[in-house]
Amino acid sequence: MSDVLVVGGGIVGLLGALELTRRGRAVTIIDAPTHYPPASWAGGGILSPLYAWRYSDAMTRLSVDAFSRYQQILDESDAAGISGCEALLHCGGLWVETGGDDAALAHQWARRWQVPVQSVSASEQMPESAAGAGLLFPSLGNIRNPGLLKVLRAHLQRLGVRFQSAVVSRVQPTRVGARVLAADGRKWQGDTVVVSAGHMAAQLLLPMGIAMPLFPAKGEMLLFRMKPGQVPAVMLTERGYLIPRQDGSVLVGSTLRKGDNTTYPTVAGRYQLERLAASLWPELASCSPAFHWAGVRPGCERDIPFIGLVPGTSGVYAAVGHYRNGLVSAPASAELLAQLIAGELPFTDPEPYSLSSVSPSSRSSSSFFNR
Ligand SMILES: Cc1cc2nc3c(=O)[nH]c(=O)nc-3n(C[C@H](O)[C@H](O)[C@H](O)COP(=O)(O)OP(=O)(O)OC[C@H]3O[C@@H](n4cnc5c(N)ncnc54)[C@H](O)[C@@H]3O)c2cc1C
Repeated sequence: MSDVLVVGGGIVGLLGALELTRRGRAVTIIDAPTHYPPASWAGGGILSPLYAWRYSDAMTRLSVDAFSRYQQILDESDAAGISGCEALLHCGGLWVETGGDDAALAHQWARRWQVPVQSVSASEQMPESAAGAGLLFPSLGNIRNPGLLKVLRAHLQRLGVRFQSAVVSRVQPTRVGARVLAADGRKWQGDTVVVSAGHMAAQLLLPMGIAMPLFPAKGEMLLFRMKPGQVPAVMLTERGYLIPRQDGSVLVGSTLRKGDNTTYPTVAGRYQLERLAASLWPELASCSPAFHWAGVRPGCERDIPFIGLVPGTSGVYAAVGHYRNGLVSAPASAELLAQLIAGELPFTDPEPYSLSSVSPSSRSSSSFFNR
């Protein structure tokens, strides 16, 4: 018997389930069969927003402690005998071509949030191709997200979380909780239901009376094989980034197409990323990528995800709109979600994340209760 149903098993749903299980709740995750990889699989895994100092405090609050939270989760699953994803890498991040006012803002932001940062010149750590000054964040981490998802699923199964493979077509709020209907006719009833369905979440929330400002945003990535350690740090510019993995793989990302929810890689995407790779790391100009893939980000018209109760319901929650920062913010989003559901004092003011500011759609809130 499950009392919490989580719709969507990407990083946000999985970590939400973990936090709820820790609080003694019996959780079932209903996730669509993977005809295509979720954003959480496709993403790059940089554990920082791309230019963190340009974001609101509410976003920074979610992202600053991701590394230690992931470390704790991986240690726990390791202790339970589930390991092997080489998930976390503490390699630092070099923001190339960042100077002037932007660098001053970055230093101010870093002081305020106690994030180590240093200015570097082109002659120091920068690749030959980069011009001008840059910023090095030596404590930046990245996570090998596909491996992390596997570890998390196995860890949750050990903890008793059930997984159901189904496409949810409807979440119908009831007096307490909601009924969840699948496209194949199956139904579940939960006292608490969490919608964490990535870029598909808006479709599930609309019949409940709220029009979420969410959109799909396709992103493509390339993977090159190099010798381990050749690219020493994550490297970012306004045009894109390189992410080194422990085994020597180097990810190059990413394209961004708002409104596109297709998941196939394109020739134009490959061309754009190959040019970027060559400009950031000239050796890559003579290499062919080993993999090329695409994913769909859960885009959001503001820079903060929505986490909280769906207005007008009793027990339906949403954790949606993580856009380009779902991997870095998911551990904190999951903690906040679980605290709100459990009625605990949240670790941060929940107001900025609340759904109460979302404009109601044309349906009145009373009409969606299924009596
Ligand atoms: C190319 C690319 C690079 C990125 N790089 C980074 C990065 O470096 N750092 C970072 O922090 N973030 C990055 N992101 C963003 C990050 O991947 C997302 O913000 C994050 O994965 C969102 O997680 P989620 O759980 O909300 O959604 P998803 O991972 O999309 O998961 C949603 C889940 O819900 C399921 N689902 C959807 N509809 C239904 C339904 N009707 N019924 C049942 N199940 C359903 C899906 O199958 C999926 O499993 C990147 C994304 C992309 C595409």
